[in-house]
Amino acid sequence: MSAAPTSAADPLALVRGDLAGFDGYSSARTAGLTGDTWLNANESPWPNAADAEGELRRYPDPQPVALRNALAELYGCSPARLLVGRGSDEAIDLLVRALCRPGDDAVVITPPTFGMYAVSARLHGTAVVEVPLLDTEDGFAADFDAIEREAMSRPVKIVFLCSPGNPTGSALPLDRIEALARALQDRALVVVDEAYGEFSQVPSAVSLIDRQRNIAVLRTLSKAHALPGARIGSVIADASLVAVLRRCQAPYPLPTPCIQVACDTLAETARAATDAGVEVVIAERDRLRAALMASPAVRHVYPSQANFLLVRFHDAQSAMERLLAAGIVVRDQRAAAGLNDALRVTVGTSDQNNRVIDAINAVEKKQ
Ligand code: PMP
Repeated sequence: MSAAPTSAADPLALVRGDLAGFDGYSSARTAGLTGDTWLNANESPWPNAADAEGELRRYPDPQPVALRNALAELYGCSPARLLVGRGSDEAIDLLVRALCRPGDDAVVITPPTFGMYAVSARLHGTAVVEVPLLDTEDGFAADFDAIEREAMSRPVKIVFLCSPGNPTGSALPLDRIEALARALQDRALVVVDEAYGEFSQVPSAVSLIDRQRNIAVLRTLSKAHALPGARIGSVIADASLVAVLRRCQAPYPLPTPCIQVACDTLAETARAATDAGVEVVIAERDRLRAALMASPAVRHVYPSQANFLLVRFHDAQSAMERLLAAGIVVRDQRAAAGLNDALRVTVGTSDQNNRVIDAINAVEKKQ
């Protein structure tokens, strides 16, 4: 990585100093050469017998142009601001590795939240600072003042916000995210994980990057686009940071068949079907929430901007058992701080949701 000049709010200033001048791996696909006979990657001269079309004979483009353009269009950013990789899980890992000095720096997470932020940080030798969400009348909310205090008083390089939150379902206000990023612009990157953004009425934080270059947004095709098996996730950030992350990424992050199917899902017809599916899930989510709130077994159902509901039970163990007896597997949240009576239920088809309602209505209420 070349040591580019940095201004006060330049996100390059947040990248690990010891990575200055680090160019990463220069693969056979990144050299920018042209020709008609490709003998530079030690590939086989003929396809595998099982690869009838020969589509897999070559290493894939590390950042396939058509897919990157389609994702940038989908998320409302320029292609230079988008890095595509193996799910947003990979993006989380890349951010931690590029910004945090092992052993010295820290990240902030806001539990209860998605587990991979802490896993990536721990694996990288980076401290994890917890600033718990506030459990309010309107659902879980980030304690922005406490986050800012913690980030100012420690060597915090990344603040991971999840909006809509997993497992809470609540979305964070953009004005508070922007104000936090402004306060931390010389210190930390504010990462807004929008894995469930398609189900939310709160607009994406992507538009904030124009004003606050220390904001990054994570998006994925794993949820609303129904493609978790293809592992397609994006990080959207300042172009200079995207270039750094690319140098930290594996040489060929995306398998060719996954690139193809991802492009297909972003074509007009498939996108229209995805949008229609999101509408159905939202309607079903609201119906399921109303039905569960009316159930005597249920203590509380949090409002949700995602495709799941976080449900507190009078007796979560009995609810879990009833659901399992009906063949329904939900996510047990009881090990998470402050959620010792809670399960997270993904919104399914109308029939599946009816089965959830029936199973939960059959739970006997313990006083
Ligand atoms: N972020 C959140 C909030 C998630 O819930 C998940 C998956 N459960 C991910 C990221 C990872 O998604 P991907 O499949 O894109 O790696």
